[in-house]
Amino acid sequence: MSTETTLHISEIFHSIQGESSFAGWPCGFVRLAGCGHGCRYCDTAYAEKQGTTMTVDEIVQRVLAFDAPCVEVTGGEPLLQPGAFELLTELCDRHPAVLLETGGFLPVDRVDPRVHAIIDIKAPSSGVMEHNCAANFTLALNEPERFEFKIVVASEADYLWAKSYIAGHGILGKCSIIFGPVFGQLEPRLLAEWILCDRLPVRMQLQLHKYIWQPDARGV
Ligand code: SF4
Repeated sequence: MSTETTLHISEIFHSIQGESSFAGWPCGFVRLAGCGHGCRYCDTAYAEKQGTTMTVDEIVQRVLAFDAPCVEVTGGEPLLQPGAFELLTELCDRHPAVLLETGGFLPVDRVDPRVHAIIDIKAPSSGVMEHNCAANFTLALNEPERFEFKIVVASEADYLWAKSYIAGHGILGKCSIIFGPVFGQLEPRLLAEWILCDRLPVRMQLQLHKYIWQPDARGV
């Protein structure tokens, strides 16, 4: 199928997947432009610029040319652009491992069911925690293998809030949940010790790409 639907693209690049259960795999990334959510610790604020306009066909060709074991659509907030849904479906038609990384303030119910969705849960220090989309938890509880949740923790207060929030929404122990420290703000050892002390059944991650390359490098 040929599609002329267009999207605003911040960057398309080849890197190591750095922050999910797919961390470590070579991955082709499509970063869609625009978000506006305004998280305090956003590390991709440059994606707010409108970017380059490309058709779905052009994007699919560019990212598949990396011949990577997985491909990921990220942002910005990818689901703000209506064409993102078509892009994800086109990628799923051509690749067995398609990931979506989303800020978690929009529902993912219209996303192609072949996509593995990595959904942020924003903690208090983000400044936007009231926008977390609870409908996504219901969806994930029905099909936990399709989803994982990621919480970026900047402080002990964030950690305590996150622990209570995931228990309160019934996803602790039922869905895959990843905790990671805000790079440069929270010592990873502290987060590891809190998780171990509480026997919390979550996975801890560091943002791998920030250790491989400079923490503020783009296109990685
Ligand atoms: S949702 Fe993601 S891209 Fe958007 S402001 Fe927050 S961290 Fe940045």
